[in-house]
Amino acid sequence: MEIIEGDITTLAVDAIVNAANSALAGGGGVDGAIHRAAGPELALASRALAPCKTGNAVITPGFRLRARYVIHTVGPVWRGGGNNEEALLRSAYERSFALAIKQGDVSSIAFPAISTGIYGFPKTRAAEIAIGVMREHESQLERIIACVFDAETEALYRTALS
Ligand code: ADP
Repeated sequence: MEIIEGDITTLAVDAIVNAANSALAGGGGVDGAIHRAAGPELALASRALAPCKTGNAVITPGFRLRARYVIHTVGPVWRGGGNNEEALLRSAYERSFALAIKQGDVSSIAFPAISTGIYGFPKTRAAEIAIGVMREHESQLERIIACVFDAETEALYRTALS
């Protein structure tokens, strides 16, 4: 398991995970960055698989990205914590791993900090959940990268890892 601070769209891995919305049509944050870098083919491919329920995931080619695949998962919007948000966030990570493994030719994968931007999930708890699920899959893939985009999230991930 590695923690890398930077832009997930630049990573040379087999699959990157997108923090998508259920319409799978692109959006803001990491979703927008991935769609811009992959090109318009990505929205055509992902929209055809919509809608995607919260906590679920779908897979498409990576088109112009260095990554061969994009796994689009829908994390929960934080609504105070009483709406199953923790289980849904865990499910988003787990379903993404399941798709990557089922694909058969994915040995490296990178995840953004799902739900911690526009969706407002508390960052400390999200880091614990993300690191926890990544650890559970360590033996199944060669390389698992937590791609963080700011120093605060990086520190939370390092604490959760230790
Ligand atoms: P959500 O809607 O699931 O909250 P966001 O895209 O708003 O998704 O944010 C999720 C996380 O992705 C945030 O920590 C944000 O800082 C981070 N992020 C934004 N752009 C990028 C990028 N290009 N690469 C990696 N992480 C990114």
